[in-house]
Amino acid sequence: MIIIIAIMDITIIKVTICAILALGLSSPALSQDAYQEKRETMVRRQIKDRGVTDEATLRALRTVPRHLFVPENYRSRAYEDGPLPIGYGQTISQPYIVGYMTEAIRPKAGFKVLEVGTGSGYQAAVLAEIADKVYTIEIVKELAQQADSRLKRMGYDNVEVKTGDGYHGWKEHAPYDAIIVTAAAEFIPPPLIEQLKPGGIMIIPVGSPFMVQTLMLVEKKEGKAVSKSLFPVRFVPFTRG
Ligand code: SAH
Repeated sequence: MIIIIAIMDITIIKVTICAILALGLSSPALSQDAYQEKRETMVRRQIKDRGVTDEATLRALRTVPRHLFVPENYRSRAYEDGPLPIGYGQTISQPYIVGYMTEAIRPKAGFKVLEVGTGSGYQAAVLAEIADKVYTIEIVKELAQQADSRLKRMGYDNVEVKTGDGYHGWKEHAPYDAIIVTAAAEFIPPPLIEQLKPGGIMIIPVGSPFMVQTLMLVEKKEGKAVSKSLFPVRFVPFTRG
C-alpha cells in the first residue's frame, strides 16, 4: 500500500513538473527575462517620469520586447533613450515618442487603428497590446515583409501589414478610431482624415523632411479636422510611392 502511494506521488510530481515546464516554455515573458529589467527602467525613467500616465500604454510598453525589433547588432542598445537604425535609411522611434503617441490617441480595447510607417513593427505591436485590430502600411517592401514575419512569429495575430504608400490610407478597413503616422509629411494627407471615424483622433508629424517638424494632434469633429500643434519632433520623411 505504502509503495503504491509512493509511486502515485512520484507520478503526480512528474506531471506537475511537466506542466510547469510546458507553461514556462510557452510563455513569451520567460524568454524576455534578460531584458525585463531594462524595459522596466525604460518605462519608468523615459516615459512615466516624463508625463505619460495612461495605464494601458505603460503596460504595453512594459510587455513588448523592443530588443526583438532592432537589428541584432543594436540589441544591447534597444532600451536606450533614442531612435535606432533599422536599415533602408529608416529608424525605430525613440521609446518616449512611441509612448507619447500611443497615449495621445487614447487607445482602448475594441479600437481599430491604422498606422502609416510600419518600420520595425514596434509601434504596431505596442498598439496591438491594447487595441482589437491594427492595420499598418509600410512603403519599403523589405521592411514590411520583415515586420510582418516578426509580428506573426511573436503571435501578434491582430496586426495586418501591407506594402504601399500610406498616403491613401487603407480604405477597405476604414473608418478607424485612430490613426498614427510615424513619418513626417509636408501636409496631412486628406484620405487619412476621410478614413477617421467621427470623433476619431490622428497623430502625425508635419513639416519639411530633414528639418524639425511639429507633432500634430488632429480630431475629426463634425466632418472637419481640428488640429493642435504639440511639440517639435524629428521623423524620417514621408515618401511617395
Ligand atoms: N513605426 C516605426 C517607425 C518607422 S520610421 C517603428 O515602430 O519602428 C517611419 C517609416 O515610415 C519608415 O519605415 C518609412 O519607410 C515609412 N514610410 C515613409 N513614407 C511612407 C509612406 N508614404 N507610406 C508608408 N510608409 C512610409
